[in-house]
Amino acid sequence: MDIIDKLTEVFKEFPGIGERQARRFVYFLMSRNGDYSNNLYKLIVELKKEVAQCKECLRMFILLGRPSGAGGNKICEICSDTRVDSSILMVVEKDSDLESVRKSRVYNGKYFILGGLVPIVEKTTKSRVRIEELKERIKKEKELKEIILAFSLSPQGDHTDTYVRNELKEIAEKQKMKISSLGKGLSTGTELEYSDNDTLKNALKNRQ
Ligand SMILES: [Zn+2]
Repeated sequence: MDIIDKLTEVFKEFPGIGERQARRFVYFLMSRNGDYSNNLYKLIVELKKEVAQCKECLRMFILLGRPSGAGGNKICEICSDTRVDSSILMVVEKDSDLESVRKSRVYNGKYFILGGLVPIVEKTTKSRVRIEELKERIKKEKELKEIILAFSLSPQGDHTDTYVRNELKEIAEKQKMKISSLGKGLSTGTELEYSDNDTLKNALKNRQ
């Protein structure tokens, strides 16, 4: 494997990037001057230094001026915002889904990032999605009344919805929480990430 192949493999791991696009990135980098690569390298190192994972919603966020690792109490600005409605918790697949919902301003509750969808044929589900972390979170949320499952309306999204519902059933019943799904208000194949405000607003209103 030469350096072109090695770098292509790295880019192929990026979301939505296939072999051909990955290779185009490599050739693009080769054509640019050294400053470009140096800057890219510096920004990546900086990003890793400034980013932290929120202990509550598990999203990645920028530690605005606070050095990473300090205090160890890493709670993001959404989770520490007291104006947020703590009676509802929305469970989404990934960070970019949370950002879209947040930008739409149609939802003002708490969040949790599951970290993926559950593949339909899968034996080691638990290692892939943060279901145990979600259970722990819910047990701690005393004011919580409703959990909204907000996955894409796709076979995998549906499967994840069913899986999470089953896993949370017992805790939800015990703590008298309702579990609803956002998916019904989205059209088939819609990615939460790309939904517009009206779609999201309707989906929230029609959640079941
Ligand atoms: Zn958070």
